[in-house]
Amino acid sequence: MVPPSKTNTIDFDAAKLQRLGFSSNRTHSLRPVSLAQLRQQLNLQLQTSLEVERILSLFFREVQRLVPLDALAYQQPASDLRLELGERANHSAGYRLSHEGEYLGELVFRRNQRFTEEELGQLESLLASLLFPLRNALLYRAAVRCALRDPLTDTGNRIAMDQALHREVDLARRNLQPLSLLMLDVDHFKRINDSYGHSAGDEVLRALATTLKAQLRNIDMIFRYGGEEFLILLSNTGREAAAMIGERLRHAVQELQCLAQGQAIELSASLGCANLLPGESVDSLLRRADSALYIAKRDGRNRLTMAG
Ligand code: GH3
Ligand code: MG
Ligand code: MG
Repeated sequence: MVPPSKTNTIDFDAAKLQRLGFSSNRTHSLRPVSLAQLRQQLNLQLQTSLEVERILSLFFREVQRLVPLDALAYQQPASDLRLELGERANHSAGYRLSHEGEYLGELVFRRNQRFTEEELGQLESLLASLLFPLRNALLYRAAVRCALRDPLTDTGNRIAMDQALHREVDLARRNLQPLSLLMLDVDHFKRINDSYGHSAGDEVLRALATTLKAQLRNIDMIFRYGGEEFLILLSNTGREAAAMIGERLRHAVQELQCLAQGQAIELSASLGCANLLPGESVDSLLRRADSALYIAKRDGRNRLTMAG
Protein backbone atom coordinates (compact mmCIF):
# COMPACT_ATOMS: atom_id res chain seq x y z
CA MET A 1 0.00 0.00 0.00
CA VAL A 2 1.26 3.50 -0.86
CA PRO A 3 2.04 5.32 2.38
CA PRO A 4 -0.28 8.26 2.78
CA SER A 5 1.42 11.52 2.01
CA LYS A 6 -0.60 13.20 4.73
CA THR A 7 -1.88 11.48 7.82
CA ASN A 8 -4.16 13.00 10.39
CA THR A 9 -6.13 11.73 13.29
CA ILE A 10 -9.86 12.28 13.30
CA ASP A 11 -11.29 12.01 16.76
CA PHE A 12 -14.99 11.45 17.12
CA ASP A 13 -15.58 14.05 19.81
CA ALA A 14 -13.72 16.80 18.04
CA ALA A 15 -15.53 15.83 14.87
CA LYS A 16 -18.88 16.03 16.62
CA LEU A 17 -18.11 19.56 17.78
CA GLN A 18 -17.19 20.44 14.23
CA ARG A 19 -20.45 19.01 12.96
CA LEU A 20 -22.38 21.04 15.49
CA GLY A 21 -20.61 24.15 14.30
CA PHE A 22 -18.34 24.77 17.30
CA SER A 23 -15.24 25.24 15.24
CA SER A 24 -13.99 27.88 12.92
CA ASN A 25 -13.50 25.56 9.98
CA ARG A 26 -12.61 27.80 7.06
CA THR A 27 -14.62 25.70 4.62
CA HIS A 28 -17.81 26.97 6.23
CA SER A 29 -17.33 30.37 4.76
CA LEU A 30 -16.09 29.08 1.41
CA ARG A 31 -18.85 26.60 0.53
CA PRO A 32 -21.32 26.85 3.36
CA VAL A 33 -24.47 25.68 1.61
CA SER A 34 -23.29 22.67 -0.30
CA LEU A 35 -20.98 21.37 2.42
CA ALA A 36 -23.66 21.72 5.06
CA GLN A 37 -26.24 20.07 2.83
CA LEU A 38 -23.96 17.22 2.01
CA ARG A 39 -23.12 16.66 5.66
CA GLN A 40 -26.77 16.64 6.54
CA GLN A 41 -27.52 14.11 3.80
CA LEU A 42 -24.56 11.97 4.79
CA ASN A 43 -25.70 11.95 8.40
CA LEU A 44 -29.03 10.51 7.32
CA GLN A 45 -27.80 8.19 4.61
CA LEU A 46 -24.94 6.57 6.46
CA GLN A 47 -27.23 5.60 9.28
CA THR A 48 -29.32 3.43 6.97
CA SER A 49 -26.81 0.58 7.07
CA LEU A 50 -24.81 -1.43 9.57
CA GLU A 51 -22.53 -2.87 6.92
CA VAL A 52 -19.05 -1.38 6.76
CA GLU A 53 -18.75 -2.02 3.02
CA ARG A 54 -22.08 -0.36 2.25
CA ILE A 55 -21.38 2.65 4.46
CA LEU A 56 -18.01 3.26 2.85
CA SER A 57 -19.27 2.92 -0.70
CA LEU A 58 -22.12 5.34 0.06
CA PHE A 59 -19.61 7.74 1.58
CA PHE A 60 -17.26 7.40 -1.42
CA ARG A 61 -20.09 8.10 -3.85
CA GLU A 62 -21.64 11.01 -1.98
CA VAL A 63 -18.41 12.81 -1.08
CA GLN A 64 -17.64 13.10 -4.78
CA ARG A 65 -20.53 15.50 -5.20
CA LEU A 66 -18.26 18.01 -3.52
CA VAL A 67 -14.71 16.69 -3.86
CA PRO A 68 -13.80 14.54 -6.88
CA LEU A 69 -11.86 11.41 -5.89
CA ASP A 70 -10.29 8.50 -7.75
CA ALA A 71 -10.16 6.06 -4.90
CA LEU A 72 -10.87 5.41 -1.27
CA ALA A 73 -9.05 2.78 0.75
CA TYR A 74 -9.95 1.62 4.21
CA GLN A 75 -8.41 -0.89 6.53
CA GLN A 76 -9.00 -2.09 10.05
CA PRO A 77 -6.74 -5.08 10.66
CA ALA A 78 -8.35 -5.94 14.01
CA SER A 79 -11.65 -6.53 12.21
CA ASP A 80 -9.92 -8.23 9.31
CA LEU A 81 -11.18 -5.51 7.00
CA ARG A 82 -9.49 -4.15 3.91
CA LEU A 83 -11.43 -2.29 1.26
CA GLU A 84 -10.38 -0.52 -1.92
CA LEU A 85 -12.92 1.46 -3.89
CA GLY A 86 -12.13 3.10 -7.25
CA GLU A 87 -8.86 3.25 -9.17
CA ARG A 88 -5.33 3.67 -7.87
CA ALA A 89 -3.98 7.24 -8.02
CA ASN A 90 -0.82 9.25 -7.24
CA HIS A 91 -1.88 11.67 -4.54
CA SER A 92 -3.30 10.67 -1.24
CA ALA A 93 -4.53 12.01 2.07
CA GLY A 94 -4.68 9.52 4.92
CA TYR A 95 -6.57 9.68 8.18
CA ARG A 96 -6.38 7.63 11.31
CA LEU A 97 -9.94 7.39 12.60
CA SER A 98 -10.65 7.16 16.29
CA HIS A 99 -13.44 7.62 18.78
CA GLU A 100 -12.74 8.13 22.49
CA GLY A 101 -9.39 6.49 22.04
CA GLU A 102 -11.00 3.58 20.21
CA TYR A 103 -9.25 2.91 16.93
CA LEU A 104 -11.62 2.80 13.96
CA GLY A 105 -9.14 2.15 11.15
CA GLU A 106 -7.21 4.02 8.49
CA LEU A 107 -8.88 5.78 5.62
CA VAL A 108 -7.05 7.06 2.56
CA PHE A 109 -8.47 9.32 -0.17
CA ARG A 110 -6.61 9.06 -3.48
CA ARG A 111 -6.59 11.16 -6.57
CA ASN A 112 -4.42 11.78 -9.64
CA GLN A 113 -4.71 15.51 -9.12
CA ARG A 114 -3.24 17.04 -5.97
CA PHE A 115 -5.75 17.89 -3.22
CA THR A 116 -6.11 21.58 -2.40
CA GLU A 117 -6.14 22.77 1.21
CA GLU A 118 -9.78 23.69 0.77
CA GLU A 119 -10.66 20.21 -0.41
CA LEU A 120 -8.80 18.61 2.47
CA GLY A 121 -10.78 20.78 4.85
CA GLN A 122 -14.00 19.65 3.22
CA LEU A 123 -13.02 16.00 3.34
CA GLU A 124 -12.12 16.28 7.01
CA SER A 125 -15.42 17.91 7.72
CA LEU A 126 -17.31 15.20 5.85
CA LEU A 127 -15.39 12.49 7.72
CA ALA A 128 -17.19 13.64 10.85
CA SER A 129 -20.39 12.14 9.42
CA LEU A 130 -18.68 8.83 8.82
CA LEU A 131 -17.29 8.18 12.30
CA PHE A 132 -20.44 7.33 14.19
CA PRO A 133 -22.01 5.02 11.57
CA LEU A 134 -18.63 3.38 11.01
CA ARG A 135 -18.17 2.74 14.72
CA ASN A 136 -21.63 1.17 14.96
CA ALA A 137 -20.98 -0.98 11.90
CA LEU A 138 -17.68 -2.21 13.36
CA LEU A 139 -19.38 -3.10 16.65
CA TYR A 140 -22.15 -4.88 14.79
CA ARG A 141 -19.63 -6.77 12.66
CA ALA A 142 -17.72 -7.90 15.75
CA ALA A 143 -20.96 -9.04 17.45
CA VAL A 144 -22.10 -11.00 14.40
CA ARG A 145 -18.69 -12.57 14.00
CA CYS A 146 -18.65 -13.57 17.64
CA ALA A 147 -22.12 -15.11 17.39
CA LEU A 148 -21.06 -17.25 14.45
CA ARG A 149 -17.71 -18.60 15.66
CA ASP A 150 -16.75 -21.46 17.90
CA PRO A 151 -14.47 -19.88 20.51
CA LEU A 152 -12.27 -22.94 21.11
CA THR A 153 -11.31 -23.69 17.52
CA ASP A 154 -12.16 -20.42 15.76
CA THR A 155 -14.15 -22.26 13.14
CA GLY A 156 -17.79 -21.56 12.28
CA ASN A 157 -20.39 -22.75 14.79
CA ARG A 158 -23.70 -24.52 14.15
CA ILE A 159 -25.54 -21.29 13.32
CA ALA A 160 -22.91 -20.33 10.75
CA MET A 161 -22.96 -23.88 9.39
CA ASP A 162 -26.72 -23.82 8.89
CA GLN A 163 -26.62 -20.47 7.13
CA ALA A 164 -23.72 -21.51 4.88
CA LEU A 165 -25.30 -24.85 4.00
CA HIS A 166 -28.55 -23.28 2.86
CA ARG A 167 -26.77 -20.49 1.00
CA GLU A 168 -24.36 -22.85 -0.78
CA VAL A 169 -27.02 -25.39 -1.72
CA ASP A 170 -29.14 -22.56 -3.21
CA LEU A 171 -26.15 -21.18 -5.10
CA ALA A 172 -25.08 -24.57 -6.42
CA ARG A 173 -28.60 -25.23 -7.66
CA ARG A 174 -28.98 -21.84 -9.28
CA ASN A 175 -25.57 -21.91 -10.98
CA LEU A 176 -25.70 -25.63 -11.80
CA GLN A 177 -22.42 -26.11 -9.98
CA PRO A 178 -21.26 -29.08 -7.95
CA LEU A 179 -21.13 -28.89 -4.15
CA SER A 180 -19.48 -31.36 -1.81
CA LEU A 181 -19.53 -31.85 1.89
CA LEU A 182 -17.01 -33.56 4.15
CA MET A 183 -17.88 -34.71 7.63
CA LEU A 184 -14.84 -35.37 9.80
CA ASP A 185 -14.83 -37.07 13.20
CA VAL A 186 -11.74 -37.66 15.32
CA ASP A 187 -11.15 -41.35 16.03
CA HIS A 188 -11.28 -42.51 19.65
CA PHE A 189 -11.17 -38.98 20.93
CA LYS A 190 -12.64 -40.04 24.24
CA ARG A 191 -9.43 -41.97 24.94
CA ILE A 192 -7.39 -38.75 24.67
CA ASN A 193 -9.61 -37.07 27.24
CA ASP A 194 -9.52 -40.15 29.46
CA SER A 195 -5.74 -40.51 29.28
CA TYR A 196 -4.58 -36.89 29.39
CA GLY A 197 -7.50 -34.85 30.68
CA HIS A 198 -10.08 -32.58 29.15
CA SER A 199 -7.81 -29.57 28.67
CA ALA A 200 -5.28 -31.68 26.74
CA GLY A 201 -8.26 -32.76 24.61
CA ASP A 202 -9.11 -29.10 24.05
CA GLU A 203 -5.55 -28.40 22.93
CA VAL A 204 -5.74 -31.26 20.45
CA LEU A 205 -8.99 -29.87 19.04
CA ARG A 206 -7.41 -26.45 18.64
CA ALA A 207 -4.34 -27.87 16.89
CA LEU A 208 -6.53 -30.04 14.71
CA ALA A 209 -8.65 -27.07 13.59
CA THR A 210 -5.51 -25.07 12.76
CA THR A 211 -4.21 -27.96 10.67
CA LEU A 212 -7.49 -28.38 8.81
CA LYS A 213 -7.69 -24.65 8.08
CA ALA A 214 -4.13 -24.66 6.78
CA GLN A 215 -5.15 -27.30 4.23
CA LEU A 216 -8.20 -25.45 2.97
CA ARG A 217 -8.53 -22.65 0.44
CA ASN A 218 -11.58 -21.11 2.01
CA ILE A 219 -11.23 -21.26 5.78
CA ASP A 220 -14.65 -19.67 6.21
CA MET A 221 -16.23 -22.92 5.19
CA ILE A 222 -15.14 -25.12 8.07
CA PHE A 223 -17.52 -25.60 10.98
CA ARG A 224 -17.44 -27.38 14.29
CA TYR A 225 -20.79 -29.10 14.45
CA GLY A 226 -20.13 -31.35 17.42
CA GLY A 227 -17.51 -31.95 20.12
CA GLU A 228 -14.83 -33.46 17.89
CA GLU A 229 -16.73 -33.26 14.63
CA PHE A 230 -16.11 -30.84 11.82
CA LEU A 231 -17.95 -30.14 8.63
CA ILE A 232 -16.23 -28.79 5.53
CA LEU A 233 -18.24 -27.25 2.72
CA LEU A 234 -16.57 -27.39 -0.68
CA SER A 235 -18.32 -25.07 -3.11
CA ASN A 236 -17.96 -25.71 -6.85
CA THR A 237 -16.20 -28.98 -6.07
CA GLY A 238 -17.13 -32.29 -7.65
CA ARG A 239 -16.79 -35.85 -6.37
CA GLU A 240 -13.18 -36.58 -7.36
CA ALA A 241 -11.79 -33.26 -6.13
CA ALA A 242 -13.69 -33.58 -2.85
CA ALA A 243 -12.31 -37.09 -2.33
CA MET A 244 -8.80 -35.75 -2.91
CA ILE A 245 -9.27 -32.93 -0.42
CA GLY A 246 -10.75 -35.37 2.10
CA GLU A 247 -7.75 -37.64 1.76
CA ARG A 248 -5.43 -34.67 2.18
CA LEU A 249 -7.19 -33.71 5.39
CA ARG A 250 -7.11 -37.27 6.70
CA HIS A 251 -3.38 -37.39 6.01
CA ALA A 252 -2.76 -34.04 7.69
CA VAL A 253 -4.55 -35.21 10.86
CA GLN A 254 -2.46 -38.37 10.91
CA GLU A 255 0.75 -36.36 10.51
CA LEU A 256 -0.19 -33.87 13.22
CA GLN A 257 2.41 -33.86 15.99
CA CYS A 258 0.59 -33.48 19.29
CA LEU A 259 2.17 -33.81 22.69
CA ALA A 260 0.43 -34.33 26.02
CA GLN A 261 2.40 -34.76 29.23
CA GLY A 262 5.50 -35.16 27.08
CA GLN A 263 4.01 -38.06 25.14
CA ALA A 264 3.13 -38.06 21.44
CA ILE A 265 -0.58 -38.51 20.83
CA GLU A 266 -1.56 -40.72 17.94
CA LEU A 267 -4.29 -38.99 16.06
CA SER A 268 -6.52 -40.03 13.19
CA ALA A 269 -9.88 -39.08 11.77
CA SER A 270 -12.63 -40.67 9.74
CA LEU A 271 -14.45 -38.82 6.99
CA GLY A 272 -17.69 -39.11 5.10
CA CYS A 273 -18.08 -37.33 1.79
CA ALA A 274 -21.32 -36.52 -0.05
CA ASN A 275 -21.96 -34.60 -3.26
CA LEU A 276 -25.15 -32.63 -3.78
CA LEU A 277 -27.64 -34.47 -6.00
CA PRO A 278 -30.02 -32.60 -8.31
CA GLY A 279 -32.94 -31.27 -6.26
CA GLU A 280 -31.52 -32.61 -3.00
CA SER A 281 -32.31 -30.90 0.32
CA VAL A 282 -29.73 -29.77 2.89
CA ASP A 283 -31.00 -32.40 5.33
CA SER A 284 -30.64 -35.22 2.86
CA LEU A 285 -27.12 -34.12 1.91
CA LEU A 286 -26.12 -34.03 5.59
CA ARG A 287 -27.69 -37.40 6.21
CA ARG A 288 -25.79 -39.04 3.36
CA ALA A 289 -22.46 -37.57 4.55
CA ASP A 290 -23.23 -38.79 8.06
CA SER A 291 -24.02 -42.31 6.80
CA ALA A 292 -20.75 -42.34 4.84
CA LEU A 293 -18.90 -41.31 8.01
CA TYR A 294 -20.64 -44.08 9.95
CA ILE A 295 -19.41 -46.61 7.36
CA ALA A 296 -15.85 -45.23 7.61
CA LYS A 297 -15.99 -45.81 11.38
CA ARG A 298 -17.49 -49.25 11.01
CA ASP A 299 -14.89 -50.29 8.45
CA GLY A 300 -11.98 -49.55 10.78
CA ARG A 301 -11.62 -45.73 11.08
CA ASN A 302 -8.80 -43.52 9.70
CA ARG A 303 -10.44 -43.58 6.28
CA LEU A 304 -12.66 -41.65 3.90
CA THR A 305 -15.90 -43.09 2.60
CA MET A 306 -17.89 -41.67 -0.30
CA ALA A 307 -21.66 -41.57 0.00
CA GLY A 308 -23.44 -43.69 -2.58
P1 GH3 B 1 -15.13 -42.65 17.57
O1 GH3 B 1 -13.86 -43.08 16.94
O2 GH3 B 1 -16.20 -43.66 17.47
O3 GH3 B 1 -15.56 -41.33 17.06
O4 GH3 B 1 -14.81 -42.49 19.11
P2 GH3 B 1 -14.80 -41.19 19.99
O5 GH3 B 1 -14.22 -41.50 21.31
O6 GH3 B 1 -14.11 -40.09 19.23
O7 GH3 B 1 -16.32 -40.81 20.02
P3 GH3 B 1 -17.32 -40.51 21.19
O8 GH3 B 1 -18.49 -39.87 20.52
O9 GH3 B 1 -17.56 -41.74 22.00
O10 GH3 B 1 -16.58 -39.47 22.11
C1 GH3 B 1 -16.39 -38.15 21.76
C2 GH3 B 1 -15.72 -37.49 22.90
O11 GH3 B 1 -15.42 -36.12 22.65
C3 GH3 B 1 -16.54 -37.48 24.16
C4 GH3 B 1 -16.47 -36.09 24.70
O12 GH3 B 1 -16.13 -36.05 26.05
C5 GH3 B 1 -15.38 -35.45 23.89
N1 GH3 B 1 -15.60 -34.03 23.69
C6 GH3 B 1 -16.65 -33.43 23.12
N2 GH3 B 1 -16.49 -32.09 23.11
C7 GH3 B 1 -15.30 -31.84 23.68
C8 GH3 B 1 -14.55 -30.63 23.96
O13 GH3 B 1 -14.96 -29.52 23.65
N3 GH3 B 1 -13.35 -30.76 24.56
C9 GH3 B 1 -12.86 -32.00 24.90
N4 GH3 B 1 -11.67 -32.05 25.47
N5 GH3 B 1 -13.54 -33.13 24.65
C10 GH3 B 1 -14.72 -33.06 24.05
MG1 MG C 1 -18.16 -37.87 17.39
MG1 MG D 1 -14.95 -39.39 17.42
